[in-house]
Amino acid sequence: MIESITLNLDQSFGDLKECVLVTDAERTIVFVNKAMETLFRVDRTELIGSQTKRFFADPTQFEQMADLYRGPSEKQHKLTHTIDLVLGDGSKTTVEVVSAPLFNAERDVSGILFIARDISERKALESKLSDIALTLEDALDAILEGFAIFDADDRLVLCNDNYRDIYAHSAPAMFPGNRFEDILRFGLGKAQYDTGDLPQEQWLSERLKWHQKADGKVLEQKLQDGRWIRISETRTRTGGIAGIRADITELKEARAQAESAYKNLSLIADNVSASITEADKDGNCLFINKTGCRWFNGTPEELLGTRLRDRLPWKEREIVRTVFQNALAGDKVTHEARFSFPDGVSRECFLEATPRLNESGEVDGLVVLVTDITDRKKTERTLAELYAITSTRELGHEDKIAEILRLGCEHFDLPFGIISHVIDEHYTITHALSPNAELVPGTSFDLKDTYCTVALSADEPIATSNAAESPFAKHPCYGIFALESYIGAPLLVDGVVHGTINFSAPEKRTRDFTPEDIQIIRQFADWVGHEIARQRDHQALMDAKISLERVASIDDLTQILNRRAFLERANTEIQRFRRTKRPFTAVMLDIDKFKQINDMHGHSTGDEVLARFAHTVGSELRAVDVFGRVGGEEFCMILNETDMDDAMQVCERLREKIVNECQFDRVKQTITCSLGLATASREDVEFSTLMQKADTALYEAKSSGRNKCVAYQSGRDSALASRI
Ligand code: GH3
Ligand code: MG
Ligand code: MG
Repeated sequence: MIESITLNLDQSFGDLKECVLVTDAERTIVFVNKAMETLFRVDRTELIGSQTKRFFADPTQFEQMADLYRGPSEKQHKLTHTIDLVLGDGSKTTVEVVSAPLFNAERDVSGILFIARDISERKALESKLSDIALTLEDALDAILEGFAIFDADDRLVLCNDNYRDIYAHSAPAMFPGNRFEDILRFGLGKAQYDTGDLPQEQWLSERLKWHQKADGKVLEQKLQDGRWIRISETRTRTGGIAGIRADITELKEARAQAESAYKNLSLIADNVSASITEADKDGNCLFINKTGCRWFNGTPEELLGTRLRDRLPWKEREIVRTVFQNALAGDKVTHEARFSFPDGVSRECFLEATPRLNESGEVDGLVVLVTDITDRKKTERTLAELYAITSTRELGHEDKIAEILRLGCEHFDLPFGIISHVIDEHYTITHALSPNAELVPGTSFDLKDTYCTVALSADEPIATSNAAESPFAKHPCYGIFALESYIGAPLLVDGVVHGTINFSAPEKRTRDFTPEDIQIIRQFADWVGHEIARQRDHQALMDAKISLERVASIDDLTQILNRRAFLERANTEIQRFRRTKRPFTAVMLDIDKFKQINDMHGHSTGDEVLARFAHTVGSELRAVDVFGRVGGEEFCMILNETDMDDAMQVCERLREKIVNECQFDRVKQTITCSLGLATASREDVEFSTLMQKADTALYEAKSSGRNKCVAYQSGRDSALASRI
């Protein structure tokens, strides 16, 4: 029977590549095929009839396989064993053996069929693969990112050290075969992650959902210790998931810092009063701040990407084009010009175009700063004009004050300008400018009813451009005069409050007063104060000069012109005579026997007589006549436009008047005087010659009895001279 089985077996397995071996129930070999002979390098006749024990490198394995013969069951069908066998030459090989029981008709085990396959090659391959895997692991450890691969069941296949380092708390759970979810749960238990506001279960389910998507998109994950991890997961070809982790904490911080720096810069840019823009080489706007948006009358969305200069009138566009061209050549360019902006406002601008360089140092755009210098320019012009007004010699005091008021009204764009004088609680307008001259100098108000009282108590300039919406609305002035706009400053003259200078309007102002405006009104106040002080000094000087001149030309005793002043006036008269040829007569007067009065009544009485005499004569003369004391008790007068006849009449009247009115009770002798008259003639070029002639006539009067008037007659001089 065995033979027939053997024959059958040989037919079935003889040429099979795998080794086939059949034993009987006593583990005695009954059949081996050719492959078996080749593997063990023995003839089958040598094997048949022997036990298999000899082949096992590990005898215990032979014992274990005895189970196959005891208690056979379905379970023992086709069992697979890996067995290390000893070959005929003593070398070892690993085979994979599949066993199947053979049953007889009584369903008893009659033998076992073994089919063995030499797997030494496969083993070698597996070991090679394991080497490759180790190399791969080493390689993975060398990369900076954390790396992990999960299989199709989401179980960890391998991960590198960086992966373990990143999730240090979860690392103990990172062994091959552990599920991703279990690793996550383990980490959660160790407070590995910052789950934010989410409950742990929700955080976990969202994380798993993302993980399962494995679409390569980047997820940023925050850890409990504050680190930020960038996660990227992709599906592998075998249905697993490969994930990469990178610590981006520093990157995030740098990015946050950059963002906050940008925000701060934008905040600054948006809060400056200048327009800040950035443009590319073609002039297209890349950045614009709030002021720029306002001037160009658009939102950033409308303006970005467009060429802003195209929104300006063509001439201004040309200016900007030239500035851009020069700046793109690499130098910072500045320019001053007036621009009409799309918001309808014309501004004097200061342009600064700074080239922006790229990493290779080439100009790839410009940063353009435009400052509104309208106010500054206006202030400069006003200050220049103020200087011109105050320093010119062409204008008098009053004109200068009027010009300053005009300049102020123009600068502040307000119709009313006032300079006030404040004494105690009274405010009086001294100078004013108003459209219809409704403000009249001399008009007074209660100081408390004016805004100026605020400036005076503050001791500095004050201003409002919209009184209704300011504390000024509560001021009595607002109720009385309804002034919406006001700027005023105290006026000091020589350090003492004199009054105020102020400008106002019943309308509110379109623009607020600027700090420059406050400076301007302060300057105005300074200059007007200075001007008033100068005028005051000038007046005082004039008064002093007049009184000095008076002191120098008036005789103390008689209060008429002294000799020097009289002769000066006399010379003027003779010059006029030479021009006009109108006659005038010079008269010399001398009190008769005056020495006697002195001698008899004393010098002071003599003085009294002199004073009375001068007064009596003076009161009789016309304003055009000139009268002076030329000696001790000698006087001279010039009778204007008076010929000898008329002069003689005047002198006679005077002589009589002295006799009648110039007498003193205590002076016994009658006070009289003698008068000598001489009328100017062609040859009298100098007054002294005329005076000489009158003196000659006087001498005549004295010598012919005194108390008389004598006219000069030519030809008498020689007689006189001989007598002297
Ligand atoms: P005759 O009629 O000739 O003019 O006589 P007379 O006395 O007036 O003559 P004379 O001219 O010699 O005298 C003038 C006197 O006037 C001399 C002088 O003492 C006096 N005299 C001159 N100046 C003053 C003065 O300011 N006050 C007083 N009280 N006397 C004066
Ligand atoms: Mg005399
Ligand atoms: Mg005399």
